[in-house]
Amino acid sequence: MQEVDNAQQELLKQCLFCKIANKAIPSEIVFEDEHFTCVLDINPASTGHVLVIPKKHYSVSPQLPIQAIESLARIVKASSQAFLQGLGFKGFNMLISNGLLAGQRSPHLVIHLIPRQEYDSIRMPEPPDIGMLDVSEDLKKQVQASTPELKAVLEKLFQQVRVNASPAMSQSCALCNAINKKPFFKHSLVSVVEPNLAKGALLPSYFLIAPTTHYTIIQQTPLPVLSLALLSANLLSAMLFEIYAKQGIEVGTNIVLRNGIPAGQTLNHANIEVILRFKQDNNNFQWTGKQVSKDELSSTQETLSQAFQQAMQALNAESQARFQQEPRQSQLQSQAKQQLAMQQGMQQPAQQSQELPQTQKQLQSQEKPSKEQEHESNASKQRTPWHRIP
Ligand SMILES: [Zn+2]
Ligand SMILES: [Zn+2]
Repeated sequence: MQEVDNAQQELLKQCLFCKIANKAIPSEIVFEDEHFTCVLDINPASTGHVLVIPKKHYSVSPQLPIQAIESLARIVKASSQAFLQGLGFKGFNMLISNGLLAGQRSPHLVIHLIPRQEYDSIRMPEPPDIGMLDVSEDLKKQVQASTPELKAVLEKLFQQVRVNASPAMSQSCALCNAINKKPFFKHSLVSVVEPNLAKGALLPSYFLIAPTTHYTIIQQTPLPVLSLALLSANLLSAMLFEIYAKQGIEVGTNIVLRNGIPAGQTLNHANIEVILRFKQDNNNFQWTGKQVSKDELSSTQETLSQAFQQAMQALNAESQARFQQEPRQSQLQSQAKQQLAMQQGMQQPAQQSQELPQTQKQLQSQEKPSKEQEHESNASKQRTPWHRIP
């Protein structure tokens, strides 16, 4: 235990985000809990741009323990309400960048929550072009061989959480249809589909993780479902890293949530995307940081922290109501989550040892990005729209 504490303290001395999360450096805090400190970005992409910073030093999101993922789900869900009630934004993005190739800029995991309005100049990573994935036949074979393994891991993780819920689907919804027809993985609460595969991609490169029930936006999605979706996204990320690392190919992953039309949500069904990232794919998150005065920051902080508090209270009331309504199901879910936590705890060391060195090496060898790299030209590429899943 002593050793762990020492390591944590050593990091606290060195890592900027450890210092911010643990308040060794002052910042504009809008919300905090046991796992995360949520602060305003001092150079925001939009007013109210929040950085969700783990209090412990994690490099990438697959390292987050399940309790932290549940806490993140709560923060994400509350933020949708807080951005609307506090600041009047009708949409927001959640962005996680795992690895240098995914645009990660700090060795400490930082999760962005960005309020969006239509026609702002913010650009999120987009679904990859199938053409980008022109790789050797060997790799194709290797990756395809790993797919059953990937499904088996998901299956194992979720078998504890099976509930007898019959999902309410919508016949006119493209994503509901894709979940029905050929899901990559299907569970009673959360499904995974691979839209690029339907378009002829030969490698897993892009996943949509969606509630099996048709919820339009995150505000409607129950917390346990959102937690499971985030957990699946982390798991897929870790597996993709592993599969490609075996081949000596560096990749990164973005985990993106587009909630609401201003945030670029194009499907009428809430989902989280896992986007595989390769070297020089020109797919980075781009924005122009706004200059904000100290006064403006602190007034935003005041408004948003109140809005977060209200949103959290509403969420707690909602969870209690749900528990009373469906005691059996909630009990099952919480039992299942405990089991999942135990499973994850057991898997953690192996996962870390495979994944960490590479990511850390990448980040250490990173030099300060040039302006061009950081804000790649907006005109760099027009991407295929993905409104329809065939
Ligand atoms: Zn740190
Ligand atoms: Zn649907």
